Amino acid sequence: MRIILLGPPGAGKGTQAVRLVERLGIPQLSTGDMLRAAVAAGTPVGLKAKAVMDRGDLVSDDIVVGIIADRIEEQDAKGGFILDGFPRTVAQAEAFDRMLADKGLKLDAVIEFKVNEGELVERIVKRAKDTEARGEPVRKDDNPDVFKTRLEAYRNQTAPLSAYYDSKGALKTADGMRPIDEVTEAIRGILGR
Ligand code: AMP
Repeated sequence: MRIILLGPPGAGKGTQAVRLVERLGIPQLSTGDMLRAAVAAGTPVGLKAKAVMDRGDLVSDDIVVGIIADRIEEQDAKGGFILDGFPRTVAQAEAFDRMLADKGLKLDAVIEFKVNEGELVERIVKRAKDTEARGEPVRKDDNPDVFKTRLEAYRNQTAPLSAYYDSKGALKTADGMRPIDEVTEAIRGILGR
C-alpha cells in the first residue's frame, strides 16, 4: 500500500506510522528523519537544510522531492510505503503525482489527522520532556517558539493539500485528538486492514 499521513506537527503521524510499519510490513518514509540524518552526517543537503529546519521553516521543494524520488527506488519501498511529513506543499504533491504516474503506481489513501491546534504546543513540550527523560537528544525545533513557525508553515503551505487530495477523491480523515489506540483503530478501518 502507498499511504500519505497528513497533519500538523505533533498530530501523531510518526506514532501511527510506526504502528503501520509493524502491521503492514512496509517502511515509514519520514522526510524529517531523513533530513535530520543528513544534518547529522554533514552532507551537502544537510548543510543546506540545517538553518531552515532549526527555525521551523520548510526546506526547498527541490531538496525533499529529490530525497523522496531516490528513497522510493530502494528495494524495501517497492511494495509500498507510509509517507510521514511529505508532501508538505502543493508543488511537492504535484511532483510526487508525476513520480507515481511515471512508474504506473497509485496512492491508496491520504489520511489527514484532524487536531485541535491549541493542544499541539503541549504535546510538543511533552515530547521534548519524554525524549530528555529517556536520555536521548531533544529535537532543536521541539520548543514553543520554533513550533509557532512550524505551525504557520503548516497552515500556509501544507493545509491546502487537504483540498488537493480531496478533489482527487483520495482524502480520508481521522480524529487525531483521540487516544493513540483509537486513532490506530480508525486508521485500520479506513484502510480496511
Ligand atoms: P518533521 O520531522 O516532519 O516535523 O520535519 C522537521 C523539519 O524538516 C520541518 O520543520 C522542515 O524544516 C523539514 N521538512 C521535513 N519534511 C519536509 C518537507 N516535505 N518539505 C519541506 N521541509 C520538510
